Amino acid sequence: MKIQMVDLYGQYLKIKDEINSGIQEVIETTSFINGPKVKEFATHLAEYCDAKYVIPCANGTDALQIALMALGLKPGDEVIVPAFTYVASAEVIGLLGLIPVMVDVDYESFNITESNIIKALSTKTKAIIPVHLFGQSCDMEPIMQLAEKYNLYVIEDNAQALGAVYSFSNGTKKHTGTIGHIGCTSFFPSKNLGCYGDGGAVLTNDENLAKSIQMIANHGQQVKYHHKVIGCNSRLDTMQAAVLDVKLKHLDEYCQARKIAAAYYSQKLQEVKGLTVPMQISNSTHVFHQYTLKVHNGERDTLKDFLAQVGIPSMIYYPLPLQQQEAFKDITRTGEELKNAETLANSVLSLPIHTEITQVEQDYIISRIKDFFK
Ligand SMILES: *Cc1c(COP(=O)(O)O)cnc(C)c1O
Repeated sequence: MKIQMVDLYGQYLKIKDEINSGIQEVIETTSFINGPKVKEFATHLAEYCDAKYVIPCANGTDALQIALMALGLKPGDEVIVPAFTYVASAEVIGLLGLIPVMVDVDYESFNITESNIIKALSTKTKAIIPVHLFGQSCDMEPIMQLAEKYNLYVIEDNAQALGAVYSFSNGTKKHTGTIGHIGCTSFFPSKNLGCYGDGGAVLTNDENLAKSIQMIANHGQQVKYHHKVIGCNSRLDTMQAAVLDVKLKHLDEYCQARKIAAAYYSQKLQEVKGLTVPMQISNSTHVFHQYTLKVHNGERDTLKDFLAQVGIPSMIYYPLPLQQQEAFKDITRTGEELKNAETLANSVLSLPIHTEITQVEQDYIISRIKDFFK
């Protein structure tokens, strides 16, 4: 038994014929750049998420950068971002000469909350980037109300939660990535909808934003060789679009497999003293991009080593909160103490979870974890 964090090959084998013929078709037609598959996939993703516009791009980091560029912010404007996230969410803010303002996350859900955002607001605040970490939506209703009150843009970093659905108090349901003004996602191979290389997309329901995003991703031009603004070159390869168009049909099934595996872990591990299983908020589905434990009493690293010795991989997402990253030292402003981000960086451990994981593998992982805490 060889346990992996993700099993992309096993997943491929189940859809091999469709994937191979999709890629073959792109080769035969040599439509490598902006081929018809790119538009088809974008249309299908828009339908799936119920978004008006989907603009594919080269990766999730580009999606965030392009989204921020489309807002027309000025150097020195502030953008609120969680301190506990993947670097890309904040990196693009710094790259554009804007000021990342880091806020603490909720200890239970790992996500930012309205109350932490309020503490960080200033007259320069222009946008918020909520990150739906590990596959669960931030509590978006109060965040959107706050944004409306203070006239702020909301860009959702949905790289880890594509497929999750958030419920509003009036019963309306929306896919994560379609709640804010702009949603960004990544098709990095290990993401819930992953391609076989790099890929990303920007989603919006706003026609004007969609036009700017499209233009910025394409060298700032709407008409070829007529450049209105400084943009960038960020495209989704046609081959990746072909892969994604096949995999999108399976996304709900993939999310379901992750949910089942997560429920099984939680059922068996919740009684174990010394760790806490992931918490689920009631108004969002959780698509478990990661299954992340909190390991108490400073035992996280010893548990990780112990598991490695018995053939079980595990990962630390993320070992250093953003406020401790050297790159941000001189460009950030922090609204408050970032205690939870710091505590979580020292205690989180993500277990193997993917669409192909078996109960036999999970039973082995669970029993070794129980051995450790015995
Ligand atoms: C993966 C990820 C990104 C970046 O995606 P890339 O496609 O690797 O550029 C951004 N934010 C979060 C939270 C991610 O997990």
